[in-house]
Amino acid sequence: MLDNPGDGIKIRASIGTLARIGIAQVKLEAYPRTAYLLLPGGCSGSCLFCPQWIKESRVSRVSWPEVELEYILNAQMLFERICIQSVLRRMFWEDLVKISSLFEIPVSISTNPVGERELLELRKNSQMIGIGIDAASSSLFEAIRRPGSFESYLKFFEKSLRIYGKGNVYVHLIAGLGEDLKDMVKIMSYIYDRGGAVALFAFTPVPGTPLQDREPPPITYYRFIQIVNYSLKEGIPLERIGSLDPDDYKEAFLTSGCPGCNRPFYNERPGGKLYNFPSRELLESRWEEVREEVRASLEYLRFLP
Ligand code: SF4
Repeated sequence: MLDNPGDGIKIRASIGTLARIGIAQVKLEAYPRTAYLLLPGGCSGSCLFCPQWIKESRVSRVSWPEVELEYILNAQMLFERICIQSVLRRMFWEDLVKISSLFEIPVSISTNPVGERELLELRKNSQMIGIGIDAASSSLFEAIRRPGSFESYLKFFEKSLRIYGKGNVYVHLIAGLGEDLKDMVKIMSYIYDRGGAVALFAFTPVPGTPLQDREPPPITYYRFIQIVNYSLKEGIPLERIGSLDPDDYKEAFLTSGCPGCNRPFYNERPGGKLYNFPSRELLESRWEEVREEVRASLEYLRFLP
């Protein structure tokens, strides 16, 4: 261990991460298995769904207090993985390189596109990469004001596959931003066909953002996309979905992402509907309800491309 871990560096950490290491007093139904960190400094983007450029201390519905990195370094063995999410600002990748180099357990970084040289630097200290394409199509990408272009993100996805290797690249997609289901299935198939994987998020309206009044997606719609994601990951032909027994694919409803990533209550209020289940125990405790939702979700089968 380093003598002076963290070197006075400040970082934002999700409130669940801080609860897990005992420096925030919040009672949670499930604790994060990954420590979720975020570079401080606010974001120069202006994505319509994200509070990062308006109110720096939130991502989705989760608050991210700023703490000394040292606290996280000292408690890293409580976690299976560290996930460091970046914001768009000058030289953000240098901070990612520095911070990821300080950990001894597996690190994932979640980043906007960077050049080849920067990506090679990042690869030295991180095993997996998350890419927030978020929108299912080029037109939706523009409509929600993601910086850059859909096509440049797809190019970055290919470059990341080359540098991190197949199976180590997760594309973040948000369901419920106003996409066409066919576009969603198309982009998910594209990602799996090339050796990537999808981490699914449900759109969550955050107060103060331009999309604060938009409803989250219907739960049956989200369940269907989870089933498609699971089928693509497992190589199950989509035409077979209707003939499968939901008891055989419960895993589809757990949080999707890097190994150890469970993002508890990122998209939902504790006690409310769970879009992504952060643990098997919670899923089992609500399985009858989820099974019903799955049965109803199969009406979306007729919209498959
Ligand atoms: S899938 Fe989870 S651990 Fe991996 S980059 Fe995304 S949020 Fe981080």
